[in-house]
Amino acid sequence: MISRISITGLKDFLLCPRKIYFSNVLRIEKKKKSVRFAFGTAFHSGATPVWLGRKNAFALSWVGFRGDKSITYDDRLLGNWDGCMEKGRVMSKGLETFLHENDLEIVNGKRGLEIPGTKEIDKMTVSYRVDARAKVKRFPMIIGGVEKKISGSVIFDLKTAAQQYPIHAARRSIQLSGYSYLSEEPPDFAAFLIVTKAKSPKIQVVGVKVDQRLLKEFEETTKGAIAYLNTGVYPANRGDHCNYCDFYELCYGSKDGDKKKNVNKLFKRRSRSRP
Ligand code: SF4
Repeated sequence: MISRISITGLKDFLLCPRKIYFSNVLRIEKKKKSVRFAFGTAFHSGATPVWLGRKNAFALSWVGFRGDKSITYDDRLLGNWDGCMEKGRVMSKGLETFLHENDLEIVNGKRGLEIPGTKEIDKMTVSYRVDARAKVKRFPMIIGGVEKKISGSVIFDLKTAAQQYPIHAARRSIQLSGYSYLSEEPPDFAAFLIVTKAKSPKIQVVGVKVDQRLLKEFEETTKGAIAYLNTGVYPANRGDHCNYCDFYELCYGSKDGDKKKNVNKLFKRRSRSRP
């Protein structure tokens, strides 16, 4: 029975329950990671310390990324290691300049809270690690499709992306509403800070105003997800998002045919044994 889930896990569960079955029930290790995530993870793990003022963190994360032998990455990126390092450096520089220009006062995030559920799962711990929380003054942010200058407290989630986000990306985001809900003191705004993986990276801030409606929505959605988890049914929801899924090969056919067959057998057996 799943009793602990991260915000990202919750988002995945709402998108495709089968994915959570692979990762949280069968606990299948991700053997091959999509190159998009590899790049994002390396950038991300270096970014938080930079937020908090510890320089050189990017260099360390990139070295760690290269040396991580436990995961097989798609070799398109590793084949062009120098280009990748250069891109990372440019993106890091862009982010640092942005932080400097906007004079953000960074304070730490918090993690973990128990949310009451129903029936067998009477409570669920939803954990999160927010990238930064800052106090801003006349800070430019796209809200509801329009750029505004906002003042107040903001929670940031750093994203790397191939291209800029749609201007309404923050609306109905379970991550942003979740981070806000789980904060000891809800922020005034929650936003994605997106750094694009271009030669000249663009930085974009797409956010949402945090109000009672947003917090209530998250609570209701989470309670609904917990109730659904109680049923023990994890159907696959196939779609474009499968292209970014670490379990793609298990779902759609794998070079390792036996493994796929075994996982499918196990899935059927466990599904049948559920009430
Ligand atoms: S490949 Fe698609 S259907 Fe299969 S677990 Fe991943 S997201 Fe779900």
